[in-house]
Formats: sequence, C-alpha cells, structure tokens
Amino acid sequence: MTTSPLTLAPVTIAIDGPAAAGKGTLAKRVAEHYGLPYLDTGLLYRAVGKQVMLAGVDPDDEEGVGQVARKLEPGHLDDPTLRGHEAGELASRIAVHGRVREALVEFQRAFAARPEGAVLDGRDIGTVICPDADVKIFVTASAEVRARRRTDELIGHGRDVTYERILSEVRSRDERDSGRTVAPLRPAPDAHLLDTSELDIEAAFQAACAVIDQRLANLETR
Ligand code: C5P
Repeated sequence: MTTSPLTLAPVTIAIDGPAAAGKGTLAKRVAEHYGLPYLDTGLLYRAVGKQVMLAGVDPDDEEGVGQVARKLEPGHLDDPTLRGHEAGELASRIAVHGRVREALVEFQRAFAARPEGAVLDGRDIGTVICPDADVKIFVTASAEVRARRRTDELIGHGRDVTYERILSEVRSRDERDSGRTVAPLRPAPDAHLLDTSELDIEAAFQAACAVIDQRLANLETR
C-alpha cells in the first residue's frame, strides 16, 4: 500500500539507473502519483544524437557535438524515433562529451527547480544535476534481466533481434555510461538502491513509493 499523493511542500525526486532498468516507466508513474512534472533527461541526449546525425557531425567530435547541443530546441524532442534503440546507442556515444553535458545542465536544473517540484530520471541526476534532491532512487537490475526485458520489448514491436546481441549492447552501454570521465553513471552516496531484477513494474512502483513516503515523512517532521 502506498500513502496518499503529495500534500506537503514541493519536492524534487531524482531517479537514476542503467539502460533498461525500468526507471522511465517507474519515474512516469511516480510523477503521476505525486502530481509532479516529469523530465526524461535521456530524451535530451537522444535528441542531440539525432541532430548530430542530421547535421552530419562526427559523434566523436566534442566541439562539433557541443555546438549542436547548444542549439537544441524543444521541438527537437517531439521526434518519435528518439525512443528507439538506435537513438539510445547514439545518445550514449555523444553523452560522454563534457561540452554536451554542460550545454544541457541549465535546462535540467531549471526544470528541477520548478515551484511545484519535479521528477527527473537519467544517469547523473542525483550526483550532478540535483545533488540536493529531496529523494534519490537508483534503479538497477542485472544485465541479463535488463537484456531479456529489452529483447521482449523489441520483439513485441516486430523487431528481429536476439537476446545475445541485446545483452552485449546492454553491457557495452553500461561500460560506456559508467566508464566515462564526465558525470559517470553511479549511485549518489545518499541514493536508495532499488533492484528490480525480481520485481515487476507494480512491485517496483510500490517499493519506490515506500521509499518516497518515508523520506517525505522525515522531511515533514523536520
Ligand atoms: O535513459 P535513456 O536510455 O534514454 O538514455 C540514453 C543515453 O543517454 C544513456 O545511455 C546515457 O548515455 C545518456 N544519458 C546520460 N545522462 C542522462 C540521461 C541519459 O548520459 N541524464
């Protein structure tokens, strides 16, 4: 059982974790439940990747990719192909560049500072974007479970993929996201770890709400 939605001061909730851990679905449900605006920060990196491709810029050219990131417009986020698997791979390539990350920081922090509160999900929300977030949750699951979920999802969309290929992509994305020097993927020291390997989305949602409600109760009694 979760308690009733938010009735106290606005809060910022940071949800981080590796690819295909289910954090997007979870963050969206949490935002709905607590009546907070939601930002999927991965979409910003995906949109930059897409614009880089359209502009014919080399994804490894930090200066060039940084320029594209600085020119990102809200309309670029509406592209439905951004949700696809390939867009995610490209996003993770351009996300290693400090100049790209710098260009996107301000927008994310402004969103997090909205007077009504906010939920943001990504890789570095609890560590870099909102180190002072009221609640931080790091959602994870084994690479095998994440690859199985992603494979089933892609097959469900009619894609011809194998579990082995997706597992190897999940592992290399983890390595790239965790191994980069700027804002690597890692739990903030004060993040609550939520391993969803054995949980379905409903159970993961209930577990996240329990963490959030507990934290909110602590904030209220301060
Ligand atoms: O979360 P999503 O799969 O949409 O993210 C795509 C890629 O964008 C990630 O693999 C990661 O490299 C990058 N990203 C990031 N920081 C964020 C969100 C996403 O580096 N806050």
